[in-house]
Amino acid sequence: MNKYYQQTTLAKNVALSGTGVHSGKRTNITIKPARENHGIKFRRVDLPGTQDIQALFKLVVDTSLATVLGTNGAIVSTIEHLMASFAGLGIDNALVEVDDYEMPIMDGSAKDFTRALTAAGTIEQDAPKHFIIVKKIIQVQDQDKSVMVLPEPCFKITCSIDFPHPLVGKQKITYDRATNNFEQDVSRARTFGFIKDLELLKRFSLGKGGSLDNAIVIDKDKILNKEGLRYPDEFVRHKLLDSLGDFSLLGMPIQGHIITHKSGHTLNHLFIKTFLENKDSWETGPARME
Ligand SMILES: [Zn+2]
Repeated sequence: MNKYYQQTTLAKNVALSGTGVHSGKRTNITIKPARENHGIKFRRVDLPGTQDIQALFKLVVDTSLATVLGTNGAIVSTIEHLMASFAGLGIDNALVEVDDYEMPIMDGSAKDFTRALTAAGTIEQDAPKHFIIVKKIIQVQDQDKSVMVLPEPCFKITCSIDFPHPLVGKQKITYDRATNNFEQDVSRARTFGFIKDLELLKRFSLGKGGSLDNAIVIDKDKILNKEGLRYPDEFVRHKLLDSLGDFSLLGMPIQGHIITHKSGHTLNHLFIKTFLENKDSWETGPARME
């Protein structure tokens, strides 16, 4: 693992392909190394001449079913799990070439992306990493759901969920970059859904590529996937994975402690908007550790 204070890119290209969960179409992606201060960008190779799409919060155009980025007529959808892999592995700079609008869902987790990126290896670059350093507590709330950040000299995220379902219930987890291993502890946690919601998606003819191969499907009192769970608390670990992906759209890692309760993409995005607007609550610069 790198020291986490220098910008990082891939050592070589990574190629992957799979099916889009909403489009049902096969998509090929090639992830390429990129120079310092490039950030993460997506390029629609099926739409030559269109502008690259930077993975930044200001380019989010939809979060209702998946995170969608768009600029000047080109969009790229369902980016959140690949973004979580970049964030979890501390990769700052990469170009993602994709030949359709939707990223492949793979197995519903970030396992395949993470494994492929880890296998390619990363290299430290000459420029230092930039961080968003939290200076003040910021919190947003929506009924019993909340997201907040605390100014702490760490890179931590704590997620908790509370679903009134016997197989899920209350779960809580803290991920600390200093002590946890993203690939082992987080990347394999799959998306989950309740069967009643999946039926709703099908009625709107979305989720065409969705199946037991790319989600944990929960019925009234059982999990339909024969192989069971990958972690006893896989549900909250997937929330953590999603949150890492959402917060990565700040364009730089947060130094501080992020705490989410019953949150999802929509509240995470509302939080990021509020956080960025409160300019006295953060500053950018190199990490400041005690
Ligand atoms: Zn997810």
